[in-house]
Amino acid sequence: MRNEIDVKIMDALAHDIQKGVPILLKDGFHETESLQEGSILKLRNSANKFIGKGYVGKQNKGVGWLLTKNENELIDVKFFQKKIAAAITHRAEYFNSSDTTAFRVFNGEGDGIGGLTIDYFDGFYLISWYSEGVYSFKEMILEALEASASYKGIYEKKRFDTKGQYLEDDDFVKGDRGEFPLIVKENGQNFSIYLNDGAMVGVFLDQRDVRKAIRDTYSAGKTVLNTFSYTGAFSIFAAAGGATKTTSVDLAKRSLSKTTEQFEVNEIDVEKQDIIVMDVFDYFKYAKRKELAFDVVILDPPSFARSKKYTFSSAKDYTNLLKDALAITEKNGVIVASTNNATFGMKKFKSFVEKAFAESNRKFVIEEEFSLPSDFKTSPLFKEGNYLKVLFVRVK
Ligand code: SAH
Repeated sequence: MRNEIDVKIMDALAHDIQKGVPILLKDGFHETESLQEGSILKLRNSANKFIGKGYVGKQNKGVGWLLTKNENELIDVKFFQKKIAAAITHRAEYFNSSDTTAFRVFNGEGDGIGGLTIDYFDGFYLISWYSEGVYSFKEMILEALEASASYKGIYEKKRFDTKGQYLEDDDFVKGDRGEFPLIVKENGQNFSIYLNDGAMVGVFLDQRDVRKAIRDTYSAGKTVLNTFSYTGAFSIFAAAGGATKTTSVDLAKRSLSKTTEQFEVNEIDVEKQDIIVMDVFDYFKYAKRKELAFDVVILDPPSFARSKKYTFSSAKDYTNLLKDALAITEKNGVIVASTNNATFGMKKFKSFVEKAFAESNRKFVIEEEFSLPSDFKTSPLFKEGNYLKVLFVRVK
């Protein structure tokens, strides 16, 4: 058990917490310098009334997260066990699926503990810690996870500044060490996963529903261009859905071998696909010059990217990106526009599409839209947590 510290907060934050807002924003506190990572705070309003208990874990504008509004609830192994068990129950459908063996088990504030995510990869659990504060609960959280689930092995990623103390092979926690690549399934396709090789494991699980739509509805007989392709996950699903050819473009050199590997584990003939290591913005110029056109163009850029020649910010430059894509999309083709930028919502994202088409004198219809899948549970009063926005835009 950890000491609890009484802290007076601004009434505006107290009101937010009472409504159900889970994040403890810095400006809700009189001062934050003295707050120690991992401390449990008993939050009180100006009239000294108990409002809630939270922990200190500094991330961006937040200094921590709410844990409970019940003054008598202790933040102990039992507390974490209750949250993790409820999260596991919420994913019962995924645990029971033989078609999909990789999914999110615990999604931060959506499951009641901001700053903590747990993913499942065919018997292995991957815990991501987003602050030193949440990491300080590691022993309790591990005990809670072990009490709630059987596992082959547990891995972790520290997604906070470890001040250079991050050691190689630090990702393994306990149980069996996996043999990598680990082959997991998603809606019947395979993914090759590495839990011990840096921050990214090979696939972004939040795009599962989008990949399925690309395979099942949009790819048969089509040419598909996948930009910012990383390990080519969208290309795999497009090829599996009967695309005549996929073209994957990413400037990271590793994308060639990684994408080849993903095709191979799906027994798709990689010789029939194009995998191009190139800056996407150069590729657009090249494709235009060569008068190439694709039936489906997928755009899934990072929120910010700086390459040798270009800087891209999805909040500022998405309209131009869409115009570039539109110039090489066949009439009646589809642009799959995706963003994970939490600083704007779906409405604004749609306005980028409207602007790009208006400025290009073209018409469009939005055929489908996606946000996070059900395993990425979000809190209704923390909009930034619901970051994913994907539009399937038919070009008229
Ligand atoms: N769409 C991918 C994930 C993209 S992650 C998927 O579904 O798995 C972002 C990728 O963009 C990274 O692989 C990064 O190397 C790439 N990238 C960033 N800037 C780029 C640029 N200017 N040109 C090409 N690729 C870029």
